[in-house]
Amino acid sequence: MIQTLQYVPEYEEDLIYPALCRSLSALGIEKDMRPGLKVVIKPNLIMAKRPEHPVTTHPLVIRGMVRWLNEHGVTDITLAESSGGLYNGEYMKNVYNTCGMRQLEPALHLNMDFSARTVNCPDGFANHSFHIITPVVEADYVINICKLKTHAMTGYSGGIKNLFGVIPGLEKPQLHYRWPRLADFSRMLLELARTVNPQLTIIDAIDAMEGNGPTGGTSHPLHLLLAARDLYTQDYFAAGLMKLDPMKIEMIRQAVEAGLARPGEIELAGDPVPENLTPFKLPDTKKLDFSGNLPKFLEKPFVFFAARLLKSFPQVDREKCVGCGKCAESCPAHVIRIARVRRPGASGSIKKAVFRRKGCISCFCCQEMCPVKAISVKKAL
Ligand code: SF4
Ligand code: SF4
Repeated sequence: MIQTLQYVPEYEEDLIYPALCRSLSALGIEKDMRPGLKVVIKPNLIMAKRPEHPVTTHPLVIRGMVRWLNEHGVTDITLAESSGGLYNGEYMKNVYNTCGMRQLEPALHLNMDFSARTVNCPDGFANHSFHIITPVVEADYVINICKLKTHAMTGYSGGIKNLFGVIPGLEKPQLHYRWPRLADFSRMLLELARTVNPQLTIIDAIDAMEGNGPTGGTSHPLHLLLAARDLYTQDYFAAGLMKLDPMKIEMIRQAVEAGLARPGEIELAGDPVPENLTPFKLPDTKKLDFSGNLPKFLEKPFVFFAARLLKSFPQVDREKCVGCGKCAESCPAHVIRIARVRRPGASGSIKKAVFRRKGCISCFCCQEMCPVKAISVKKAL
């Protein structure tokens, strides 16, 4: 399995484009190209954030990919994503504008078809089909361009997790509700990735996110651009670059067990792995989880007793909360309401989010969607 790694010091088109050319050439991607090929680029546009924040795929990485496709005779290129929150014209226009995607037109078509199709999942153990946004279903060739991040629920977000954005709008929280256990949710992500089966996955790690990802963390630049055909093994490799143990990331562990990720077969092309890599800060949800360091015979009793104590819950900072309702909209368990509360030290009331702990499945969709970082994590301990 060829894994490419290119050093890219900053977001500059003149640096990104040659790095992409070298990567795609090492992977032999030009052999896949033909006139008339219908290509869909699936970025990470989880929320409307400007490109200087390490939340979304940087537009210059996408621009480089589009330029390369054009130079190989491919012009039918659509950018398709279902962000967190609603999936409609008004919502996605704001996401496209804020995330810098508008500047990519007209070389790239920004998807405005908000329909979805049911697609069978041939090897699905638990998910026999998925409802997937139409452009991805109709594409001849899917290019998955994600952002490297830590993630409150899954611990890590790269190529596999990015494909969750092919599920339309608020159907995503429904899947969280259906699979509240991390093991089941991770298996669903793998089944979804096998259903979408992108031909190429690029990881934008020029700047990456550590801490309370996927939206509330901070910048941790790696100055690297990664590309591979095999997204599973690439995620194993990329987690290692963050100094995370890939076998403690449930979706990667399952991918290795299922034979999808084959870390022993990595052939590195491009630049060497930098020597000065530093560990990524973990999300608050994962900080107290030391179960992985226990002797085997203690694991089961530990998990049983500690699960309740170590369970993480969201906690809202009333000062910061602006009452926008995005958390309530995305909560699959419907345990958040927007209520009018008294203004401290003033007359009248103001809208704020109110959380009920009972029923919360700790999926952290609410934290993901909060535009002002008003939601933090509290351990039951
Ligand atoms: S309150 Fe937040 S963490 Fe709990 S179920 Fe709702 S979205 Fe998930
Ligand atoms: S907690 Fe965040 S997402 Fe929820 S209403 Fe307040 S500001 Fe909006």
